[in-house]
Amino acid sequence: MSPRRRQWLEVVTRALVMLHALALKGPTLADSGASGWSYSGPHGEDEWGSSYPHCGSVHQQSPIDFHNGIFAYDPSLKPMQLMGYNLSETERLTLTNDGHALKLSLLPTMHITSLPDRYTAVQLHMHWGSKAEPNGSEHTISGQHYPSELHIVHYNSDKYESVTEAQDKPDGLAVLGILIEVGNFNPAYEIVFSHLKEIQYKDQKIYMPGFNVEDLLPDRLDQYFRYNGSLTTPPCYPSVLWTVFRKSVQISNEQLNELESDLFVSDKEETNQTGMVKNFRHVQKLGKREVLVSFHEGVVLAVILCCVFGALAILALGCFLLRKRTKKATENQGVIYKPAGDKDDDLS
Ligand SMILES: [Zn+2]
Repeated sequence: MSPRRRQWLEVVTRALVMLHALALKGPTLADSGASGWSYSGPHGEDEWGSSYPHCGSVHQQSPIDFHNGIFAYDPSLKPMQLMGYNLSETERLTLTNDGHALKLSLLPTMHITSLPDRYTAVQLHMHWGSKAEPNGSEHTISGQHYPSELHIVHYNSDKYESVTEAQDKPDGLAVLGILIEVGNFNPAYEIVFSHLKEIQYKDQKIYMPGFNVEDLLPDRLDQYFRYNGSLTTPPCYPSVLWTVFRKSVQISNEQLNELESDLFVSDKEETNQTGMVKNFRHVQKLGKREVLVSFHEGVVLAVILCCVFGALAILALGCFLLRKRTKKATENQGVIYKPAGDKDDDLS
């Protein structure tokens, strides 16, 4: 092959590789680190709306607070079914510091089968607080944050070719939310956390072997909150069918500390390194939305308690009335059958 022809082939190959890389990249989900937004400072959350109109809108935004009064039990919500989550060690996943969070690429063989369309996995990432304020979940329950939250992002692969095409469509994305609390050491999370020191700075990435991603989820996949919401990062497209599991998972305090202290939002070359902390969006207005719940033990328990207390109250009232009636009857008995002559004896 002539040198000129080889040079030309190299140029074409390089261009194809670049085009392929660009095609794989979603401007938001896969490449959010490149845009000029942050969780604090002049490009912080309050300013997102000026560059990304959806973030400034009140339409179907996420995250939200889950609290009594907004729930509707929906018996049609079946347990979440996940396929292909148990990855072989021979598979290769990319773990990245994208400047906003840690992000792990997932395989297109992983998907959700329990929704009307097939939703194929794209990536997972986490949100957390800081050592001083370790309350970094995005969704809250009755106003309370959890220390951290894991999101597993899927796109509607029945209707759209890629996550880039799907991400701004109303039925484009499905995200699983897992609330994380402090408790026992979690070996599944450690598989990811053991690599944190290798991706300390923005845009650093490493390859890691596959593992059972389902181990990152809680045991009960049948109990969850379901609502229509948005991406919680710019451009905040209202395109997400949210499933936030009711049961949380535990990681140890040491594991949480690693998450809160090992990563930076800045390049390795920057002199003033900024820690990657408090990378969560605050809760948004629910508006006219309602949150469907797949579980109703709470409701049943309330009904049972009401019935029990109601029955006890009726029983107590019955006893009271019966005693009153018996007492009155006894008193009357004394009056009716008492001989008239005895009256004087009472006076003696
Ligand atoms: Zn997220």
